[in-house]
Amino acid sequence: KAVFQFDVGPLLEQVGARKESLNFMKKRIRMLAAQWASAARRLHDKLQKRRREQKRILVHVGFLTEESGDVFSPKVLKGGPLGEMVQWADILATLHVLGHSLKISVSLKELQQFLGAPPGRGSCPPTGPLPFDLIYTDYHGLKQMKQHMSLTLKKHKCHVRVIDTFGTEPAYNHETYATQNGYRTNWGYWNLNALQYMTMFPHTPDNSFMGFVVEEVNETERLSIQKNKVNNMAVVYGKDASMWKGKDKFLELLHHHMEIHGTVYYDSQRPPQVPAFVKNHGLLPQHELQQVLRKAKLFIGFGFPYEGPAPLEAIANGCIFLQPKFNPPHSSYNHDFFKGKPTSRVVASQHPYAEQFIGRPHVLTMDFGNWTTFNETIREIMELNVEPFVPHEFTCEGMLERVHAYIQNQVQCPGREPIGPGPLLFQSPFRLLPNSSTLSWALPGSAQPSWPPLTALRVLASAPNNSCVKTCQEAGLICEPAFFQYINVKEAFTALNLVCEGVELEMNHLLPAVPVEHKECHLQQDSLLFSCAGSSPKYTRLCPCRDYRRGQVALCGDCL
Ligand code: UDP
Repeated sequence: KAVFQFDVGPLLEQVGARKESLNFMKKRIRMLAAQWASAARRLHDKLQKRRREQKRILVHVGFLTEESGDVFSPKVLKGGPLGEMVQWADILATLHVLGHSLKISVSLKELQQFLGAPPGRGSCPPTGPLPFDLIYTDYHGLKQMKQHMSLTLKKHKCHVRVIDTFGTEPAYNHETYATQNGYRTNWGYWNLNALQYMTMFPHTPDNSFMGFVVEEVNETERLSIQKNKVNNMAVVYGKDASMWKGKDKFLELLHHHMEIHGTVYYDSQRPPQVPAFVKNHGLLPQHELQQVLRKAKLFIGFGFPYEGPAPLEAIANGCIFLQPKFNPPHSSYNHDFFKGKPTSRVVASQHPYAEQFIGRPHVLTMDFGNWTTFNETIREIMELNVEPFVPHEFTCEGMLERVHAYIQNQVQCPGREPIGPGPLLFQSPFRLLPNSSTLSWALPGSAQPSWPPLTALRVLASAPNNSCVKTCQEAGLICEPAFFQYINVKEAFTALNLVCEGVELEMNHLLPAVPVEHKECHLQQDSLLFSCAGSSPKYTRLCPCRDYRRGQVALCGDCL
């Protein structure tokens, strides 16, 4: 049984101080200790005496191992990407606070030891059963596990969770399908259940949203922030001078209205390439950055980095985040950064989460091409009064709640929910209940339990050329890939008044669907290809949607 841990002390000891990156994580865990403890108390009360199984968990941070080059640790103090470090620190804290039994590895040697490799036998595959219920790692770690567990990785795949910042869509994850259909990248093709990939933001419902935490302000801090806001103070998003390149004109315009601050890394060999009127603080420790954000009115992005934690931290400290719209949107088809990433997602602004899930008055997204509008917007921002805000899913409680639900319910190993490629032979155990515009399904007592519960399922037909992501979104719902298996049956088409003159089984990530030009219903042959993402003018797709909690998109109303 898992027991909530209200003290992060033992975790700090376990993390150790072997690398600069681990020091950064420890500082962060310490900074958030009080918030973790009070969030744990609230979740403890919310779940009452519900039994939670204690899991044996291995966290293997692949990108921090020497063997993968560990390019991050030396950059921690020099403006390198810190978002990943933030996320891993919060994952460790979450797993610890939830009371699971944790082992942490940042080297190949530790990985081998923990997996039970016989001592002194180098990279020989471990023998015996897997000593963990869950393994959290990243793509680097996955590669290392494949090398060192060889064949046994296949057997243990269902235990793995991959922390994958930008996400992996099913079409890219399915090795054969990706290879045959032009979706092969350097990252994908692991044949996992796509829900085993866990992203930084809720990018695509095909993956699980892991997220991270943004520190909340208390009532005293909120009052002090309001009192001390400096209406003409702006901070520029971007720790590296390269992110400011070519933006001189905007900086000049902005400087007419506001004092501009930056946190660009510099040293004697690398003076910052920012205009002289910018007050550059250099890279700051997180709590000092927070103090700067508390005073600032505006946090402005110039298009890069994409989708990091900093804009949410700025909003949490009462800043307005102003960011550019991308027209045309950036994606792996047209932009170097996304090239080779296993996703077809198109990104229409620097921080789509901020745009879509938060929006006005905290977030303004605009075309930076028109200087008159830019000037007007800056003036508007200086007059707006905005409260600090953290979406619930980015609070400690929100993250604990979500990860708790995943650990107890999601992607179970064989015996419960099958994982792995193979033909699907479905005999629908479900009876349709027509329910005005949508449909719900009733689960007879004898069938297997589902998570999310099937009562949350709403089946919709997409318009041709619409993905299920969009179809569900337009109905105020979210696509739930775990439900595809229940709608991959002829009855589902019939219930939506889609006539099937025949049924075909096929491997295609857009299925189940009806081709617009035929009357045959096409069912999905391989469960690994069920995908919310993806659209074609040739298909009307069948989409499994569900409701979600306000501020916690990963969970349906009855999911906790
Ligand atoms: N950060 C920091 N000091 C600074 C600027 C940023 O500690 O001077 C932290 C910030 O608090 C955030 C993290 O760096 O949590 C990642 O920021 P960003 O959004 O820039 O994402 P990245 O591109 O680093 O992944």
